Amino acid sequence: MHLITCRHQNHERLGVLQEESIVLLPQEAGWPASMLELIAGGPALLARLRAELPRLTTRIAADKAELLAPIPRPRKNVMCLGLNYKDHAEEIARAKGLPIELPEHPVVFTKSPTSVTAPGADVPAHAGVTSELDWEVELGVVIGTGGRAIPRAQALAHVFGYTVINDLSARDLQFRHKQWFLGKSLDGFCPIGPAIVTADEIPDPQALRLACRVNGATKQDSSTAQMIFGVATIVETLSRAMTLEPGDVIATGTPAGVGFARQPPEFLKSGDVVECEIEKIGVLRNRIV
Ligand code: MG
Repeated sequence: MHLITCRHQNHERLGVLQEESIVLLPQEAGWPASMLELIAGGPALLARLRAELPRLTTRIAADKAELLAPIPRPRKNVMCLGLNYKDHAEEIARAKGLPIELPEHPVVFTKSPTSVTAPGADVPAHAGVTSELDWEVELGVVIGTGGRAIPRAQALAHVFGYTVINDLSARDLQFRHKQWFLGKSLDGFCPIGPAIVTADEIPDPQALRLACRVNGATKQDSSTAQMIFGVATIVETLSRAMTLEPGDVIATGTPAGVGFARQPPEFLKSGDVVECEIEKIGVLRNRIV
């Protein structure tokens, strides 16, 4: 199922995207109004939704709905992997004139929950704060069943579903302040969506093509097979240190082709449209303003 959150008649609603239409989950029949509640309901609630979906009748045209991020306000920071694609780690080393060193352990940073924004939303360019706004298409992982010390072999069973994340980055702030948090957390810098695709539809998260286009020109085009640390290892590593909770969001890193590593460097400006696409999930489109 492609699960979405939208605003309908001034209320936040949950829905299932089916080609050109959205089936809204009726709250009057006891369905949750938020993705976090649905995830908290565990596999039993998801199974009930799957079984009852054919009988749910409230449909709206997908292009008439105002989509929100699937989880509009995560409970904690979005956890992110840095330098998690070999070709991206190499392009960064080259751009900085440093020797190529691949990480031996996952590089983890976070983005503020206030940076999360909707598919289709305008993203402020933050002129005056940054002049080096850059794109990063990433596979997003949403945790279903939480846990601590989750072994790699069981890790994918803890994934509720997958989504698309654009890890927008202010490179000047990211590098000037040493820690990446500030340059990754500007308001609007974490578009997520359009949907969370439930994990049953993506048995192998390491076999997905992902791409990023700016104004229609392809900038990134790779496969999640190129990740240095795969989803299962990421879940294992994070949960070894901390309790993962239902609804936690993880951005798994970006492949080569980001703007600042290009010759000459390229950055986003007002009016640019960025499209991040992942096979089996969809297209996340945002305009910089
Ligand atoms: Mg990133």
